[in-house]
Amino acid sequence: MLVVMQSSASEDKIQKVLEFIKQKGFDTHISKGEDHTVIGAVGSKIIDKRDIELLDGVKEVIRISSPYKLVSRVFKPNDTIIEVNGVKFGGGHVGMIAGPCSVESYEQVDATAQKLAKCGVKILRGGAFKPRTSPYAFQGLGEEGLKILREVADKYGMAVTSEVMEVGQIPLFLKYVDILQVGARNMQNFNLLRCLGEIRKPVLLKRGLSATIEELLMSAEYIVSGGNREVILCERGIRTFEPMTRNTLDISAIPVVQKISHLPIIVDPSHATGLRDKVAPMSKAAIAAGADGLIIEVHNSPETALCDGAQSLYPSDFAELYKDLQALSGIINKVCC
Ligand code: PEP
Ligand code: MN
Repeated sequence: MLVVMQSSASEDKIQKVLEFIKQKGFDTHISKGEDHTVIGAVGSKIIDKRDIELLDGVKEVIRISSPYKLVSRVFKPNDTIIEVNGVKFGGGHVGMIAGPCSVESYEQVDATAQKLAKCGVKILRGGAFKPRTSPYAFQGLGEEGLKILREVADKYGMAVTSEVMEVGQIPLFLKYVDILQVGARNMQNFNLLRCLGEIRKPVLLKRGLSATIEELLMSAEYIVSGGNREVILCERGIRTFEPMTRNTLDISAIPVVQKISHLPIIVDPSHATGLRDKVAPMSKAAIAAGADGLIIEVHNSPETALCDGAQSLYPSDFAELYKDLQALSGIINKVCC
């Protein structure tokens, strides 16, 4: 951290700032320039930079080290590769997850999964506990939904991911699912994140509706610092002023995250756009930009879906898209499965 003093700051004020920083547990280095005195503060302690900005004589405080450590490439330079049911995310691998928004019935999941398995999809998605904006909308089948998902996945040799909403649900999820999904609305549910740090199953962490990339990485840091190193990040669109799509897919988040973090980052083009016809182009864009995977909503009968039908692909459209994505991955020397 660099503390730049005002040019008018007296020696007395500089000394007081130095003392304050030292008391907080930092080593200090002072550099007296022609106009400004700059104090360098080195240490691993956490400090609110506003506490220093408010001191007399301080012009500005510049943070130079990142607040996340374990998820950063400084700590681990090589890509983390997460493998689930033979599907790899990261390190040149593009993992595919597909399935309905929510589990509605055995027949619906079975009909969808059968078609996905035929395409070669090995990880099935499906919400059993749904975080709906309206309390009157379909809230999911709960444990019954997880059971259906597991049963169908086992039938087709697939793994499953589903969204966990509360700490108390974790034991139930450990029984039925292979990847625990944290939804956008829970990205900063710090109690949940801490508890997910204690488990030993991969966590799919979605970016919050209005979260910055740094906030996403800090949330991942909560999980990794608890001891669970298997975190897959997910860009699922952020809320902007643009109403033509449900959210705005932040494609640039992919290379930004990949430069600073070793964790894989996948893209959810379904929630990002909210519209079926935008899913294929955005999936291709994500792969071209270097995404480590995709999670796509597919429903056997989108017209009758209880949730997110408009953004769900027909299985036949998905099959075509999946082939294109595999071909596209090949062009950039990646493997999509
Ligand atoms: C979902 O994947 O079903 C979901 C609710 O997504 P998000 O948390 O990104 O809105
Ligand atoms: Mn959905």
